[in-house]
Amino acid sequence: MRSISIFGATGSVGQNTVSIIQHNRNAFDVHAVTGAKNIEKLAEIAVALNAKLAVTSEISRLDDLQSRLKGTGIAVQAGRDALLSAAADPVDWAISAVVGFAGLEVSLKIAENGKTLALANKESLVCGGALLHETCKCAGTTLLPVDSEHSAIFQALNGEDINRVERVILTASGGPFLNSTIEEMAHATPEQAADHPNWSMGQRISIDSASMFNKAMEIIETKELFGISGGKIDVVIHPQSIIHSMVGFKDGAIIAQMGPTDMCGAIGYALYWPVRTDTGVDRLDFSKLSQLDFQPADMDRFPAIAIAHDAMKRGGLAGTVFNAAKEQCLDLFLDRSIGFLDMADLVNETVQSLENFGNCDADSMDKILKSDTWAREYVLKLFKMSNK
Ligand code: NAD
Ligand code: MG
Repeated sequence: MRSISIFGATGSVGQNTVSIIQHNRNAFDVHAVTGAKNIEKLAEIAVALNAKLAVTSEISRLDDLQSRLKGTGIAVQAGRDALLSAAADPVDWAISAVVGFAGLEVSLKIAENGKTLALANKESLVCGGALLHETCKCAGTTLLPVDSEHSAIFQALNGEDINRVERVILTASGGPFLNSTIEEMAHATPEQAADHPNWSMGQRISIDSASMFNKAMEIIETKELFGISGGKIDVVIHPQSIIHSMVGFKDGAIIAQMGPTDMCGAIGYALYWPVRTDTGVDRLDFSKLSQLDFQPADMDRFPAIAIAHDAMKRGGLAGTVFNAAKEQCLDLFLDRSIGFLDMADLVNETVQSLENFGNCDADSMDKILKSDTWAREYVLKLFKMSNK
């Protein structure tokens, strides 16, 4: 039996992970499951998986979790330190599926102490790619991608020489605003932006998909994960989301990975790697797939992609600043304080102003945390100035 932990178990990726484990329940010994606010769901998962430990990152919710798990024998803890301590508990396989910058330290703790880190939290690579790789290397931890595009690239690269890669083509569905005008996008509400046509995901990543900030993050994630330079990473709109991404090689061949729009495919690949096992996902039915469409991404309506390339050229702390500004702007958009298109303007201005903070290598958590705080404050300063 393999020991495993699920960080962010109550979220979209977390719950998909739970369902895959339930499909083959006897193969796993579940150590920790964690969540934040949804205590009812966390308790339900802890009981269903017979976990040894349930942790909420919210200290104020400890009593609620304790009372729900009373008499089950499952240990209960709360708070950020408890979360990081659970991440440091050695297991065979742990998934980092916490949303946002908060996931970076969780990933680093797993990497320090685990055997395999399955990484859904893309912010870990965007903000701390070099640090995470170094931590995995020192501890001998295997890092496996869970983001569907990166799982596709990883699968396409299986047995290949990375030096023979000509380009990587990330597919993007185009999200809910693929055919919207700039005016319509300017007035989009959080509800419209979160309404993804193909994928069922958490609210934040769904809105990031609508703005293409998610794809922008994934470009940086590709560079950090595989060491492929930004100039070799293209994005193509593929509205059906059947091809999850492709790798083009020096001989002109392209290997594409296909599957249903279900994160269980990528999570299952990371869970059972290096072997393939049935996780219960639907099979593609080619008789029902009438066509696969492709079109270039419209850089005017989706400026996030160009901002990500700018951040990659700057290097160092620019990934952290890009992500922090994007997270802060998303909070302002969710509050209805700024419009949908204002997010890209504010992120761009913050990345452009990185020199005010001082860029350097992102080689310590201290530097990353300070630049994250600076970028969030900078966005708020710009927002207040524009409202004077
Ligand atoms: P989600 O919002 O559905 O779930 C997030 C999880 O993190 C929940 O368990 C929540 O309780 C927990 N959490 C939230 N804030 C926390 C904090 N401050 N400290 C500790 N835990 C906290 O998010 P999601 O859509 O499952 O995405 C998780 C991560 O995976 C993100 O980084 C996202 O970009 C990435 N990802 C998601 C998908 C997807 O299909 N949803 C696909 C690829 C990558
Ligand atoms: Mg993705």
